[in-house]
Order: sequence, then structure tokens, then C-alpha cells
Amino acid sequence: MPQSLSDISIQFLKGVGPAKAKLLANLGIKTVEDLLCLFPHRYEDRSQFTPIAMLKVGEMQTICGQVLTCRRNFYSKNRTVEVSLEDKTGKIFCVWFNQPYLANFFKEGQEVVLYGRVDTFKKRLQMVMPVFELISAGDQSLNMGRIVPIYPLTRGITQRYLRKTIDTALRLYAKGLKDVIPSDIRRRHQLADIAGSIRHIHFPPTMQEQQAASRRVAFEEFFLFQICVILRRLCIIEKKGFAHRIEPVFIEQYVKSFPFTFTESQRRAMDDIAADMKKPRPMLRLLQGDVGCGKTVVAFFGCMAAVQNGRQAAIMAPTEILASQHYENFKLLFAGGIFDGIRLGLLTSRMSKKEKAELSGKLKAKEIDVIIGTHALLEEAVDLAHLSFVVIDEQHKFGVNQRALLSAKARPASGGSSNPDVLIMTATPIPRTLCLTLYGDLDVSVIHELPPGRGAVKTYHFSLEKIQGVYQKVREWVLKGTQAYIIYPLVDESETLDLKAAKHMFAHLQSHEFQGLRMGLVHGGMKRQETDDVMQKFKRHEIDILVATTILEVGIDVANANVIVIEHAERFGLSQLHQLRGRIGRGSKDAVCLLMADPTTEEAKSRLEAIVKTTDGFKIAEYDLQIRGPGHYFGRHQHGLNELRVANPVTQLDLLEKARHEAGHLIKLDPSLHSPAHTMIKQVIKKRYPQYLDMVLAG
Ligand code: ADP
Ligand code: MG
Repeated sequence: MPQSLSDISIQFLKGVGPAKAKLLANLGIKTVEDLLCLFPHRYEDRSQFTPIAMLKVGEMQTICGQVLTCRRNFYSKNRTVEVSLEDKTGKIFCVWFNQPYLANFFKEGQEVVLYGRVDTFKKRLQMVMPVFELISAGDQSLNMGRIVPIYPLTRGITQRYLRKTIDTALRLYAKGLKDVIPSDIRRRHQLADIAGSIRHIHFPPTMQEQQAASRRVAFEEFFLFQICVILRRLCIIEKKGFAHRIEPVFIEQYVKSFPFTFTESQRRAMDDIAADMKKPRPMLRLLQGDVGCGKTVVAFFGCMAAVQNGRQAAIMAPTEILASQHYENFKLLFAGGIFDGIRLGLLTSRMSKKEKAELSGKLKAKEIDVIIGTHALLEEAVDLAHLSFVVIDEQHKFGVNQRALLSAKARPASGGSSNPDVLIMTATPIPRTLCLTLYGDLDVSVIHELPPGRGAVKTYHFSLEKIQGVYQKVREWVLKGTQAYIIYPLVDESETLDLKAAKHMFAHLQSHEFQGLRMGLVHGGMKRQETDDVMQKFKRHEIDILVATTILEVGIDVANANVIVIEHAERFGLSQLHQLRGRIGRGSKDAVCLLMADPTTEEAKSRLEAIVKTTDGFKIAEYDLQIRGPGHYFGRHQHGLNELRVANPVTQLDLLEKARHEAGHLIKLDPSLHSPAHTMIKQVIKKRYPQYLDMVLAG
């Protein structure tokens, strides 16, 4: 049996000793396989450099030249190093700030490759802080005259070293790479073989070949990930669950206990949930819908149904504020109605051990019907054995593991165990196709419409210099009876960023522009009690203007607040802006969102344009995904998205769907991956997605 490449320590590769191995470990490289799977994050076409005379100002370009002079100016404020270079066609200057040691690298006549944005300064061509590589005579073949890979680096490891080491590894070991994708699937989708693909991902003869190689690797990533998703779903729906009894009349009773009419989507979502809850299998359902569409009352319905069946329900929220708001909301919604007798509990990590133990005792004794809390619910001491329904709010903030953990806790060690029904709520809409693939293990209900009678929300973008006019307007509106939010990106003034900060502006506005108005301040640095007090006052309209940081993003619900001013709006992400804007327009009056920003990058400009143009959360989500990529959008720890290193579900949806289709087909034929042709799939998955498969492929 030949040794697998993942068993060969990198230390034994030629050119890597113990010292380099330590440095490579910082890049996550421990084995030969890891090294071969360190993919370039971009390429430079060094088969032809741009002649200096042909450089285009404003663009990123690669040049190659010889050093003419190297000057350091350590008396200037920024301690500059300035290098002039020439090629056959012209001359250019390069400047680096605050890296004085660079001066030692550049010797007259030294050949250098530089990559950076070209601009002009005092009528001469210049690159500021370009990326550079020194070229020596010996290693031309890997670093020059071809398409060259550029890798992520760590201290002590250079591009040239990586290229040489990877080239060595490819020569010695590429043959040993085995294809995890079965050959019939490879044929159907014209996928190149793995050895050639890995070679071409590092050293592509042409960019077409690079693309083919990258498609091959992306397909593999999608394929394995989809196998996990599909297996997980199989494993969940085959478990034992609690079959609730839910009569149609109960749904009617529930709906009638509110002063408003449920929207059609809300009704449909409730029907979906009721149907799932009745089954003797655990539910795993995602409830999607824009901010303010009324997900909460739908989720509470499931809780009430569980309680009606003599069981308990839990609601887990990502922050204390959200948890306590759910708690208050719950009390408020059901007070005086037919569900008045429900016993509620609130559990957060700030509670003392004693308080937690007390609460846990009550849960155990079934003296609490619905427990609401943060991830503190997951702590070992908390007894959730009577649980039959779980709501997880803002799913993307929790990891896959936490979801599973909460489910597992609902199973008492003493027999008769069953898995609770799980409802996952998210106000970060996920485009349908992506949802199918990333959350392929979940059923999905979507609330499309906002409740009727909501006022319109208008969004405007102004330059910061218009702020006095805006304050004036806000003052007028507030004097007419509305309430307003003013949002800042920072709590405190910062030394390095020239941004307005909440604390300072609160003090300033109170004694200037908003003198005589009632103001409040909330920010992340305050104690929960303090924040809560201020929020409660704002809700009771004892405060007119609330100055805040992004802690406001989640949940807060005040119908009379119809104005939001977001200063330095260019500092916020698209989804964040959308969430902030979701704080207004919750009542029947029209609402205004004013974005104060002077964006300097194209990306920031298009973000602001997008948020002004549309209030549709799904469109915004799609846009955000495109700009930031899935990793950032969902958070780093999600869905094994980290493991998608080459594949991008947004831009390669096509390929993702093909891979999903093949994965489904394969699992249908061989659900436990028993066939010898599939053992390798099983091995690789176990290694790459342990969190997914612990429960599925145990043993
Ligand atoms: P979400 O959680 O989806 O952001 P919420 O559940 O917080 O939205 O609902 C926002 C507000 O609308 C709440 O005050 C809620 O009581 C109210 N609401 C929910 N459904 C309806 C409806 N069908 N008609 C009118 N108001 C509703
Ligand atoms: Mg909500």
C-alpha cells in the first residue's frame, strides 16, 4: 500500500528542514498534501511584462526592471525608501513608507519584479508600496517568463521559496495523488484528472488551463460538501422525534389571540411547521424573511404548540439584548390572552451560577414552559430534557455544532429519547438557489411580504458636509412627535480613524443641535442593565433621539421611531445597513433613512447605491454575497464554507448544482459509502468535514 500524501510530513521534503517546517505550519501546512493544496490567490503573467513606457496610470500592473538607485529618507515623517528602476523603455520610481529595512534589499543592478498600482507624482511615474520580488540568476525558470503563482505568505517564507518547494513536491509526488471523484462522474462533466489539475493550478501553461484545473478542484469541493449536506439530512430525518398533536382549531385560536390578521406567508409558514411537528420525525426547518415581516409570532406558535402538548420550548438568540427582547415581547404578546398562564424563563451567561442552577431546577421540574436565552442554554448544567421545540434565531451567527448540541441536549439519557423539532430563523435572507445548496439539509419556509399598513421607507444619501441641514430636519420631525436614531460606527474617538464617535457626538448634540430634546445613548461598552433601561425609556417615548452604535442592529422594535441617520455609512456592510434600516418603518407612518457618507472606493459607492435603490432584503443579500463572497457573508465558521477554497458558490452556482446532483445520485445508490469505490470519499470527508460527519459516519 503506497503511503498517502497526507501521511508524509513536510519536514522530509527536500529543501524543508525543521526550521522551515515550523514556518510553513503557520500557513497550515504540515504534510505534502497540505503543501500541494496551498492554492495561489492570484497569478502574474510574467511571460510578458508591461514595458514601463506602456504603463497605464491607475491600474494594477506587473513590471520588471533593474535598480538604478535606492535612497532612504529617515528624516521625513514617514521614513521613506525610494527606489528608481528602469527597463529598456523607461524609468519609474517606487516608494515604501515606514519599512526602512527595505533599503537593504535593493542593490544597484538588481533585477526586480514589481506589482502595484501605477500613478504619477511630480510628473513622474510611480508605484506606492508595490509588492516586489528580487530575481536572481539561478531560479529564473519558476519565477520568470511564465504565468507565475502568487501564494499567501507568512513571515520567513517567500514566494520564490514556495514555488521551488511546491515544484519539488509536484515532481516527486503529483503522480501519487488519487482521484476522489469516481471516474464516471469525471467523464460526464469533463473533469481533468487530479494530478494534472493540481500541477496546472500551481504552474499553468495558459490561463485556460488554469481555469480547467480550478474547475476540477472546485467540483471536488462542492461534491464532497454536498455529500455531507445530503447525508446529514438523511441522518436527521431518520431519527425519532416527538409527534405533537395540533388541531386546526388550535391554530385558529392562536391566530385570533392577536389584534392583527396574519399575512398569507405567515399562515403558510405556520402550516408548514404544524405539519412537521405532527410527524414522529424531528423537524429541521429554516424560516426566512426580511426584518419586520413577522417571523417571531410564527416561531412563538411552535412554542405554544409544544407547551400545549405538555412539553417545553426553547428560544436561543445570539445576543443578550435579543434574548431579553424576545422575552419581553413574549410576555407582552400573550399578556391577558388565552396563553397568559405560560411560564417563561430567561437565561443569559451573565447570570450567576446559583441563578442558573435555580432556573435549571425549574426546567427539570417542568415549572417553566418556555425558556429564552443566549448560547448559555448550551451549558452543561442546563436541563432541557423535556424540550420538544427549539427556535434558533439568527442562525448564521451560530455554528453547525451549536445547533446539533442543542438538539442533543433535548434527549434525556434515560430511554424514551426523542429529538426536538428545530426551527431556525434568519433575517439575513439567502437567495433561493444558494439556500438549497448550502442549507440543503433544511426545509425552508419563506415569509415574502411585510404586514399590510406599514409606512413606506425612503432612503437618501448625503455627503457629510450636509449634516447641519440633516440635524435641522431631524429636530423638526422630532418636535412633531416622531423619534429618531442616530448611528455611529465607533463608540469612542479613535486615534487612527478620523470618524465621529457615539459618546462624543451624544454630548455634543445634546448641548448644541438638539438642545432641549430628550436624548439617550447606547453602545456595546455599556452594561446590559444600562442599555436595557435606555431602550425601555426609548420605547416609552421618554427619549426622543437615541444615539447608538451597531448594537442597535438586532431586534429592537419601536413603532414610533421613523427616522434613522447613519453617519459614516460607508463604514457599514450592506446587510448591516439593511438591518439598521429595518429598525424604522415598523409602524404605520412613513419613515426616512438618511445615509451620511463620502465613499472613496467604488465598492463603497455601489453599496450605497444599492441600499438607496432597494428595500428588498433578498436583492440586497444577493448583492452582498457578490461583493463580499460567501465566507464573509455568512461568517467564518459556517457550513464548512471555509473548506471551499477554490470553489465559490455565488459565481459557480452552475457547477455547484451539477455536483449536488451527482452527490445525490451517489448517496441514493450507496447511502453509507460502503462500496470500495467510495471508501476514499468517506476518508476525505471525515478529514475535511469532521463536524458534519461525526454524527453521520460514526465508525
Ligand atoms: P421579524 O422578527 O420578522 O423581524 P417581528 O416578528 O419582530 O418581525 O414583527 C414585527 C412587528 O410586526 C411586531 O411588532 C409584530 O408583533 C408585528 N406583526 C407581526 N405579524 C403581523 C401582522 N400580520 N400584521 C401586523 N403586525 C404584525
Ligand atoms: Mg425579530
